[in-house]
Amino acid sequence: MYADLSCSGARLTKEQVLIGIYGGTFDPIHYGHLRVAEELADTIRFDQFFFVPAGEPRLRDSPGAAKYHRAQMVSLSIKNNTRFFLDEREINRPGVSTTVASLKEYHAEYDGRAILCFVMGADTFLKIHYWHCWQELFQLCHLIIVERPGSIQVVNRSDLPQKIQIECASRWTSDPCDLIRQYSGMIYIAQTALLDISATQIRNLIAAGRSIRYLLPDITVDYIKTHDLYSGENEFR
Ligand code: ATP
Repeated sequence: MYADLSCSGARLTKEQVLIGIYGGTFDPIHYGHLRVAEELADTIRFDQFFFVPAGEPRLRDSPGAAKYHRAQMVSLSIKNNTRFFLDEREINRPGVSTTVASLKEYHAEYDGRAILCFVMGADTFLKIHYWHCWQELFQLCHLIIVERPGSIQVVNRSDLPQKIQIECASRWTSDPCDLIRQYSGMIYIAQTALLDISATQIRNLIAAGRSIRYLLPDITVDYIKTHDLYSGENEFR
């Protein structure tokens, strides 16, 4: 928890829990995701931090690897990290899944005691107004935005789509303590490592027969090889 950060006047009650949620296709998970999560877990000291692979993503092509494999790759990549957990709720939910539905489930499971922080890259945030019931997100969670090489800088808010600028005008904070001062609705831009790694790049390298070493954990590279993921013409997207 925030016990060792000096958040004057802000403290979780004994019952409250601070939960980090990192949603994504994870097709496959890579060091860009993992390093960001590690740095956030270090600074923000979540009680729990979940990786939540999407089942059938609503706003993009079907993933290159089946959901079972994507979840397995997350599981292998985080297996030696005691702070990280895989949450398969979206993988197991039939049909297209939404973040709003998952966040509501978390609140029900924690009996209203959870403060939820949903992590996303700047590229994802730029399209958030296309998400199902996107404005409802701010009643359910805080957002933690991480900058990403190649994407516009979220700190330059005037570059954001106007709908997002209007909705978010009063939500920005550079103080992580606001994530516990408020129950939801804040947007914190975190300063984390800028690693120019993407799942698309990894899939492209595999398709081209090139090495993907050092872009993701060795154990996950081995899993991809063993299961011959992303090499088939139709599989690759
Ligand atoms: P793809 O290339 O297939 O679009 P991706 O690398 O963006 O995949 P996702 O699983 O789609 O990976 O991303 C999940 C979340 O992680 C998104 O919010 C995305 O912005 C963020 N993210 C992905 N890669 C990075 C990175 N290198 N640095 C920071 N954030 C990242």
